[in-house]
Amino acid sequence: MERSSSSDDITGWFEEVATNAEKVQMEILKRILEMNHGAEYLKKWLGDIDVENMDAHVLQSLYVSMVPLASHVDLEPYIQRIADGDTSPLLTKQPITTLSLSSGTTEGRQKYVPFTTHSSTTTLQIFKLAAAYRSRVYPTREGGRILEFIYGSKQFKTKGGLSAGTATTHYFASREFRIRQEETKSFTCSPQEVIFSGDYKQSTYCHFLLGLFYSPQVEFITSTFAFGVVQALTLFEDYWRDLCSDLSNGTLSQRIITIPSIRKSVLDLIEPNESLAAWITSKCEELEGSGWHGLIPKLWPNAKYVCSIMTGSMQPYLEKLRHYAGDHLPLVCADYGSTESWIGVNMDPCSAPEKVTFTLVPSFAFFEFIPLYRPNHQPPKACDHTVAVAGGTGDNYLEDDPVPLSQVKIGQQYEIVLTTFTGLYRYRLGDVVEVAGFFKGTPKLNFLWRRKLILTVNIDKNTENDLQLAVQKGSQPLINSGAELVDFTSHANIVNQPGHYVVYWEIKGEVSEHILGQCCKEMDAAFVDHGYVVARKTNSIGPLELCVVERGTFKKIMEYFIGNGATMSQFKTPRCTTNQVLLRILNLCTVKRLRSTAYH
Ligand code: AMP
Repeated sequence: MERSSSSDDITGWFEEVATNAEKVQMEILKRILEMNHGAEYLKKWLGDIDVENMDAHVLQSLYVSMVPLASHVDLEPYIQRIADGDTSPLLTKQPITTLSLSSGTTEGRQKYVPFTTHSSTTTLQIFKLAAAYRSRVYPTREGGRILEFIYGSKQFKTKGGLSAGTATTHYFASREFRIRQEETKSFTCSPQEVIFSGDYKQSTYCHFLLGLFYSPQVEFITSTFAFGVVQALTLFEDYWRDLCSDLSNGTLSQRIITIPSIRKSVLDLIEPNESLAAWITSKCEELEGSGWHGLIPKLWPNAKYVCSIMTGSMQPYLEKLRHYAGDHLPLVCADYGSTESWIGVNMDPCSAPEKVTFTLVPSFAFFEFIPLYRPNHQPPKACDHTVAVAGGTGDNYLEDDPVPLSQVKIGQQYEIVLTTFTGLYRYRLGDVVEVAGFFKGTPKLNFLWRRKLILTVNIDKNTENDLQLAVQKGSQPLINSGAELVDFTSHANIVNQPGHYVVYWEIKGEVSEHILGQCCKEMDAAFVDHGYVVARKTNSIGPLELCVVERGTFKKIMEYFIGNGATMSQFKTPRCTTNQVLLRILNLCTVKRLRSTAYH
């Protein structure tokens, strides 16, 4: 869509809140506390203070001094009571009727988080805001289509009768999702029946069929996380002949699409298009020969960009996504948010995924920032509250008291703390960000990694990002030999002494035993955490084990999660697991095991 007055309205609104970020934050906190005054959790910490008649500045000081920092486990008993049907004001004054399930694929366990209309409203706001910034550099045509690889998860009722499902599912089912399409005048190719089919393969097939049917009108391609686009395009490599046949005849393969509601909704939309099918067939024949390089721009020649979350744990899929996007189609990073709250918008769609920053939206929640320091990088002298591992995350960070948005410093790393309209109070999100700069009065954040420790045997401490870096380094010999690392996960094996790390790789292409041995050794050496290095040298941690799993293993893992209520839209491969079902799948599918040699 060309720049419209509504896109100017939303960017104008954002400039205003960004300019007055400090004041907006104080007012947001006051509003949250006024709205939820009297809720059991707040009462426990704030007693009966007169929130309404208190100056916003005084209230903020009082709030941060009286309400403690909390982790999900601290709020879980309240959320569980809500899920079980307790309608008294526990976290919010208004009863919560819907709960979101965070993807849980990082922690291996899904968490319930309250969801209210505020959650959908902010989703709509950030989508419109990001669309306005994108349209400045990549204008799209009004009335165009979006090929969206989006999936609703199963929605179910909790014991107390509340609807529960993932946050994206609630959003796709909401009024706001329809409003977004109408207001931005760009429409998703697939109808609701396809998004909510409950079978991601059937949904993906139909997303493609409709995406190809509307091919000339497709303005951009998107999924929540980059994994979603990569996974879909991998399926396309298997499906394209069926898709071309269906496109040519205006049919839907009986073998692939079995759900009646999705059959009807798609057949109502498509018509036979022999010439388009013939054109796509010839393109696919060419593409198959070139390993599908540049698939997206070849089949969707009018697409202006691909937009997804490509940062953090999505970085390992970037190379594959670039392969599918070819050399010229821009990759645009989608915004930064979580089931708990939206956080920041990508104002500069031209930024490469490696450099993108997210400008914090100060009206979405009340944000605090816990300064984090590496033990060898001493905090400034004035900060003498610094304590080791105060958050109990067990990682190597030292932390200081949280600061408000107005006091963050460029170049400093922080953990984000949220106070939301949905009843989370001083809630540690566990994400580490670095302040890259400011837009007016609001910080621009680089997403760094999740804080949670994933690999530890004894004195070693490795986070998701440490593993990601070690895998990146260790897989170089494999990549140089022309093979591809499809996905990976890990496990700290402490059953046999000494304990050791097991890293599972799924590989595409042929790799010799010699190269895999080299990878294993380099990966072991790439864990630079001091504890790991010392423990390896003294052999209190044994040699790293590299397990090569057969093709399709990670698809099985994804299907296991989806079968348990996760959604493709929010799926992230767990980078470390202690889940026995997953370990059984991984070990049964292991076709080769290697151990790194002596450690130097
Ligand atoms: P979930 O609530 O399970 O969907 O996951 C939310 C988490 O995904 C956040 O806390 C981040 O760790 C990660 N995440 C979300 N957006 C981004 C982004 N733009 N870049 C990197 N990681 C992100």
